[in-house]
Amino acid sequence: MKVHNVELVISAVRPAQYPETELPEFALAGRSNVGKSSFINKLIGRKSMARISSKPGKTQTLNFYKIEEDLFFVDVPGYGYAKVSKTEREAWGKMIETYITSREQLRAVVQIVDLRHPPSKDDQMMYDFMKHYDIPCIIIATKADKIPKGKWDKHKKIVREGLDMEKGDPLIVFSSETGLGQEAAWQEIEKRM
Ligand code: GDP
Repeated sequence: MKVHNVELVISAVRPAQYPETELPEFALAGRSNVGKSSFINKLIGRKSMARISSKPGKTQTLNFYKIEEDLFFVDVPGYGYAKVSKTEREAWGKMIETYITSREQLRAVVQIVDLRHPPSKDDQMMYDFMKHYDIPCIIIATKADKIPKGKWDKHKKIVREGLDMEKGDPLIVFSSETGLGQEAAWQEIEKRM
């Protein structure tokens, strides 16, 4: 998809703040610093749209980005940031749980992981969490430019096994540096709209 218009409609915490719309939604989740903002910006063709509000330590909100008049990206605050207190972590969990269990137009969670490393405990928990509620997941393994092409298959296998991924969930090798996987990611999203 070629994106011309993107609008941050609202940063929401509670369901009453979610935008009133029936457009399909895709939530984006990932460990802090994994490359989630870079992924979003690459897909929407912007340099720094999804950035400021998603940094660790900032207010934890769900950021609803309207893409054209077609769909929403819902940027979920990054997880696994060490300096977050137990209270904040719990608030985060509750916010995500409320969102994914109540939002009918949520089509899939796009979970970003690092292709270079085995999925972390937090990555596994996030994936299990989604599967517990039967949410389809699209896994993006990013930073592929940082390892040689010949090793991608081996690393893909480690990601698939590490998350114990369902067969129907796609795994896309991605790079925000080179644009690799950009088309494939859009295809998987558009298929579910
Ligand atoms: P976020 O915290 O998950 O939103 O992560 P960011 O998108 O801010 O990225 C964290 C760091 O990783 C930044 O320094 C990015 O430039 C870098 N980064 C993100 N994606 C890629 C990628 O595909 N390749 C490379 N080489 N670096 C990346």
